[in-house]
Amino acid sequence: MAGNYLDMFSLEGKTALITGANTGLGQGICLAYAQAGANVIGVARRSCQETAEKIAAVSGSFTEILADLSDLSVISRIVAEANAVCGRVDILVNNAGLIKRCDAVDVTVEEWDSVIDVNQRMVFFLCQAFAKGWIQDKKGGRIINIASMLSFQGGIRVPSYTASKSAVMGLTKALANEWSQHNINVNAIAPGYMATNNTANLRSDEQRGDEILSRIPAGRWGTPEDIAGAAIFLASEASSYVNGFTLAVDGGWLAR
Ligand code: NAD
Repeated sequence: MAGNYLDMFSLEGKTALITGANTGLGQGICLAYAQAGANVIGVARRSCQETAEKIAAVSGSFTEILADLSDLSVISRIVAEANAVCGRVDILVNNAGLIKRCDAVDVTVEEWDSVIDVNQRMVFFLCQAFAKGWIQDKKGGRIINIASMLSFQGGIRVPSYTASKSAVMGLTKALANEWSQHNINVNAIAPGYMATNNTANLRSDEQRGDEILSRIPAGRWGTPEDIAGAAIFLASEASSYVNGFTLAVDGGWLAR
């Protein structure tokens, strides 16, 4: 590699599509990618105005695609609109996700499906849609799936979420086995306990919130900025020989 090793981390000239771009970790990844030089396309159910403003403030490029990711029929439109904007998507980040807290004995089919549809089915079929194009044009690509501590652990009162995030880690390995030969790197990030909407209920429950905080070796909840480095690394040339791995960014949670 010629030049500075830091050049390997640049996303200059790349286009990245991030789902769940309007808030939380998705918004943090959008901002990180824009600062690393990528054209950013955010997919979300609701307006990404706040994300757009943050990216404009660092003179980055951002386009929004509105879509409800509980319905697989939106995929062809997402791919078409993204390609119309930029010609080609190079990096896909499957970040959108939801969590439902409920005792296992009370989970309904509707609740179960609502979590699995977005966190698992959509993730697989979005990966498939972009990988098909990347295999055809032989230019490769990057997929980063957002997993969870509950890809490794059971969790408490979130069985559908645990099932979906365990699937995300499994799929990340399965797809890497098939697609690494096509220069498609499939990896995942498993965030620890991060202060976003996803954990608002948990943090507002004083007892559970304190229990969790006291178990985090770093001694604090994570933030969207905390996963920026891992997200850039896995999207960049710096991780060319990293395949099928789920990288925990968890303040040491899994080390305990
Ligand atoms: P968040 O609730 O702020 O963000 C979730 C995002 O997913 C939002 O943009 C939301 O609009 C989007 N989304 C949900 N359902 C959707 C649908 N049907 N269509 C389109 N978009 C939809 O929480 P977050 O923490 O930023 O979560 C981002 C990802 O990180 C999720 O996959 C979550 O499971 C995962 N995660 C979060 C934590 C944490 O501690 N916050 C830990 C591990 C993993």
